[in-house]
Amino acid sequence: MAVTVRFAPSPTGRLHAGNIRTALFNFLFARKIGGRFLLRLDDTDAERSTEEFADGIREDLSWLGLDWAEEIRQSGRFDRYAAAVEKLKTSGRLYPAYESPEELELKRKRQLARGKPPVYDRAALKLTDAERAKLEAEGRKAHWRFKLEQRDVTWDDLVRGRQHVDAASLSDPVLVRADGTYLYTLPSVVDDNDLRVTHVIRGEDHVANTAPQIQLFEALGAVPPAFGHHNLLVGADGQALSKRDKSISISGMREEEIEPLAVAIYAGTIGTSDAVAPHAGLDELVQSFDFAKLSRAPARFDGHELRLLNAKLLHALPFEAVAARLGEMDIDGGNDFWEAVRGNLGVLAEAKLWWRVVNGPIEPVIADAPLCQAAAKLLPPEPWDGETWSVWSSAVKEATGVKNKALFQPLRLALTASAHGPELKHLLPMIGRTRAKARLEGTAA
Ligand code: GLU
Repeated sequence: MAVTVRFAPSPTGRLHAGNIRTALFNFLFARKIGGRFLLRLDDTDAERSTEEFADGIREDLSWLGLDWAEEIRQSGRFDRYAAAVEKLKTSGRLYPAYESPEELELKRKRQLARGKPPVYDRAALKLTDAERAKLEAEGRKAHWRFKLEQRDVTWDDLVRGRQHVDAASLSDPVLVRADGTYLYTLPSVVDDNDLRVTHVIRGEDHVANTAPQIQLFEALGAVPPAFGHHNLLVGADGQALSKRDKSISISGMREEEIEPLAVAIYAGTIGTSDAVAPHAGLDELVQSFDFAKLSRAPARFDGHELRLLNAKLLHALPFEAVAARLGEMDIDGGNDFWEAVRGNLGVLAEAKLWWRVVNGPIEPVIADAPLCQAAAKLLPPEPWDGETWSVWSSAVKEATGVKNKALFQPLRLALTASAHGPELKHLLPMIGRTRAKARLEGTAA
């Protein structure tokens, strides 16, 4: 059977480093095994789901290069869920319950006080027709619970290995709320079955849903897919991350102009036994992907580490790989420019700063006017090359007696308006004599 996986976010927010790992693992697994990767938008919650978030999710996935074969929206499939509900009612697996949230809470408290697990007591199953009619006459509306078979449920988790859950220790899950809306549990199973999803790959936060969902597949006459639950993300300090934290949002990373490949590599290697290190492309991630490499401990997201990886990736990129994205910089001499500056970049956007330094105009910083004036007079005639800086700075040293940092720092500040940057040996020939002279004399150029 062809492998099919799906990434199923709710369009109630933008993607972040946490859910992008789920998307990525699904994508990598599908790519590796030659399967299909679907995007399912879990938008049954009409109030919280928006088109804007749906667009944002597509945009983030596309930016990362995680292409999907087909998009499915739960909001277009309510008839399928209604049909499943009818089937479950007919087979006696779905029963109406009337307890209010307060009543349920009270039951839980009593059970806990008696040292018992807070499992739903199935009181609603014992109601007679007359009792039900009376509750309905009082204006109570039923919510619907799935009657679990009280037996052991097992599955071979792709990440966690063999799992056993005693369904008798679980509450019968509510599938349909009193207002007729669906909880996520049932639509997900109906969709996975209709779309012939073979592997459900998702975060550990869904482990508790798996045993009830396996029983749901079976109750609907379907064969359950395989399941894999990956570790979740925590911050560098080991604390839970907030989804609202902008530093983990994919759109935030894009705005910062972090490389999409750096984000994908980082998301795909933290929390695994693979090192966080440059890869040539998504294909290399595909090749090394293996569920067995996923750690059981949480994955740590450290923004600093991501930025370091981004810088490493950039430093190794050849000019051809960035030429198109450098826009105005993609002209004659672009290769020399790129070779000179790439080692100084944290993100590609910073290349623009150096382009400006090379081509002007910049406002020079004059820290030692007499030195700069003397240096201007000693500038050799062009053509300039990689030796010019060393010949010229030696001549300035000779003439002024100034050396080391006291010599180099004022020259750098005048020529680049910055205390740090790429080697002057590379920059100077690109800046050229006219601009260098003007800057040393304190004129913007
Ligand atoms: N919409 C669910 C979520 O984002 C999907 C869970 C699943 O993959 O089954 O958590």
